[in-house]
Amino acid sequence: MIRFQGLYYNGKNNQSEPIDIECRHQNLTFTVNGNSFHFPLDKVKIPTRVGSTPRFIELPDGAMIESQQHQEIDQILTQFQKKDQLAHVLESKWSLAVILAIIFVITLFYSVKDGIPALAKIASKEIPYSWMKSMSQETLTQLDKKIFKASKLDLQIKQKVQADFQTLQEQFSDLPLKLQFRDGGIIGANAFALPDGNIIITDQLVKIMDHHHQTLSILSHEIGHIYHKHSVRSLLQNSAIALIVFVFTGDIQTFSSLAVAAPTALINLKYSRDFEREADVWARTYLKSQNIPLTRFSEALTKLKESKPRRNKKIKIKDDDSYIELDFLSTHPDIDERIKEK
Ligand SMILES: [Zn+2]
Repeated sequence: MIRFQGLYYNGKNNQSEPIDIECRHQNLTFTVNGNSFHFPLDKVKIPTRVGSTPRFIELPDGAMIESQQHQEIDQILTQFQKKDQLAHVLESKWSLAVILAIIFVITLFYSVKDGIPALAKIASKEIPYSWMKSMSQETLTQLDKKIFKASKLDLQIKQKVQADFQTLQEQFSDLPLKLQFRDGGIIGANAFALPDGNIIITDQLVKIMDHHHQTLSILSHEIGHIYHKHSVRSLLQNSAIALIVFVFTGDIQTFSSLAVAAPTALINLKYSRDFEREADVWARTYLKSQNIPLTRFSEALTKLKESKPRRNKKIKIKDDDSYIELDFLSTHPDIDERIKEK
């Protein structure tokens, strides 16, 4: 308990009464003319010390206490502030928990959004080529069994496409590029790249192009995917996100979906818009370097768009649960945007 003396002003006239004030249990208590007053400290305004000038303590009912017993008043102030801070922290504990939870969710969101793709990019460089090769070959074997047929293109047309492709192979000799022709069957006009450097182009795609540079621009786009290792990065990203979902939800189904064989995952792979854009940029940079007009690329995309009005529909592969979503087939919603880009 702290005691001090002061003068009481009732706030209605200038008269003052000398009083003894007690401070205990966070209350100021005093008696004026036989009337007892109790005021909680948090309702009272105690000014800070200014030299030795008297302090006027404002009471909630408009009355005031004047006192020069600075030492005692400071003591009250210090004790009250400490308790006040503690109470404040305790009260705000709940909101603190909410803030921490929000920060956690935001951090998680950004680590999924930016962190995992960044990690996947680093990890993709560590994947051995032998792994990418066996995965790619298995994928192609499955597609050959279920969808593709041998190419029926004229040798002359094939040679022309192959000649353009050879220029690319020579210029990017550090990439293990290889071109494969196939009759696309139900998937029609399409092209896609496997992680081992194989690019599959369908007869239907070659046929709808009316200039060999249109075909070349599609091939360049596919090489862009290989150059940036998009398929392996997508596989890694998809697994990492499923893994995080599993860790936080404990949903074993999410995790077990990872157990699907890599070739099936590759068949179902859908590149992100960012990857499509990156492959487009790669293609356009190459075309520019060869003085090939960029309009060839836009023309090719337009032709692909027109070739299959229902191309955004997934095609189910005969006897298993995989759906084929091959590159251009899967990117339909963006295609208009991509045609316009320069
Ligand atoms: Zn693509």
